[in-house]
Amino acid sequence: MNILVINCGSSSLKYQLLNMQDESQLAQGLVERIGLEGSRLKQETPDFGKKVIETDMKDHKAALENVLKALTNEEFGAIKSLDEINAVGHRVVHAGEKYSESVIINDDVIKALEECIELAPLHNPPNLIGIRAIQELLPSVQNVGVFDTAFHQTMPETSYIYPLPYELYEKYGIRRYGFHGTSHRYVAQRTAEILGKDVKDLKIISCHLGNGASVCAIKGGKSVATSMGFTPLEGLVMGTRSGDIDPAIVTYIMEKENLSTDEVNNLLNKKSGVYGISGVSSDFRDIEDAAADGNKRAQLALDSFDLRVKKYIAAYAAILGGVDALVFTAGLGENSAMNRESICQNLEFMGVEIDAEENKVRGKEKIVSKPSSKVKVMVVPTNEELMIARDTLALLK
Ligand code: ADP
Repeated sequence: MNILVINCGSSSLKYQLLNMQDESQLAQGLVERIGLEGSRLKQETPDFGKKVIETDMKDHKAALENVLKALTNEEFGAIKSLDEINAVGHRVVHAGEKYSESVIINDDVIKALEECIELAPLHNPPNLIGIRAIQELLPSVQNVGVFDTAFHQTMPETSYIYPLPYELYEKYGIRRYGFHGTSHRYVAQRTAEILGKDVKDLKIISCHLGNGASVCAIKGGKSVATSMGFTPLEGLVMGTRSGDIDPAIVTYIMEKENLSTDEVNNLLNKKSGVYGISGVSSDFRDIEDAAADGNKRAQLALDSFDLRVKKYIAAYAAILGGVDALVFTAGLGENSAMNRESICQNLEFMGVEIDAEENKVRGKEKIVSKPSSKVKVMVVPTNEELMIARDTLALLK
């Protein structure tokens, strides 16, 4: 059984083809600059290695046509014919309050996701375009939707309600939804496996630290609190997103700088975060380099990022009433030893003792705390694609 996993962004598309007999990867790829000049497809297979195809792809359907061609290419492809794709799993960002689990996609599901466009105007439209394109290109395969918000539907009302007039929740669905759910769910399962425990017996804090970043408190395998909110803008300081700020700042800068709602949205989503503080880059590697060269604002950006993560960890420890495992994942969480170490500093009071030597690890599963540490500090590389493929397989069965 081969499952194709698709993650459609606004101008990019990531994909993986997995053989679910042994969960091995048959191919992975990325299409960039869809609808723009210079669009290209990069694919990698275990046998052939990397292949880059530069060709015009005017929309996501054209991109997916090229993906299917690349997967079945005689020289550098992974399969002989499209019949070898048994199902397709789609990453979908927002499913509102409608779905708390992955589902087989039918007309009702598509309608529900269309209704969520207002909540995720940048993400849901390309996700839906990808689903429709596959329905046309591979009419006989089942499509499954796996939602970023679904895992967090277990949050109690106290975690998701905002202290605003309650009618706004009833009228517009303004509440915390949370994102990165597929990643946090994978991390929780894998953490339990590595520790040889049942996830039902564990209290886990999962830190997904990438360009977008969120922390999640997981009790007995269920999300009970998470830092992203109504949109993925809330919570941690991110690459270019502000995370938590005093909401009064928004109207204040709108007035002072004469900004429209679009402009202030752009400022908070694209020009803030560590990029905004440092003025250097949104990429943590560049900021770490600049800080090492003595750039004070770069150091300030890193310190502010760490402080915010630390604040959420301690808050979630209180919500969970203790912590068994503190887990780091995604680009920065998996790769930056320096970042993990500084986040863990001062958390000794709650039983977090990171081991500087063990912590010298990149992109590998590892326990990086001292044997005496009450809380296991761990690096667990995330694998959202595998999770999507597993959900797809489970639903087809
Ligand atoms: P997203 O999927 O949200 O775009 P990723 O999970 O790929 O993000 O993470 C990207 C971030 O991880 C970038 O800011 C990058 O700088 C950071 N990162 C990747 N590798 C390293 C590293 N070795 N050291 C520090 N930061 C890293």
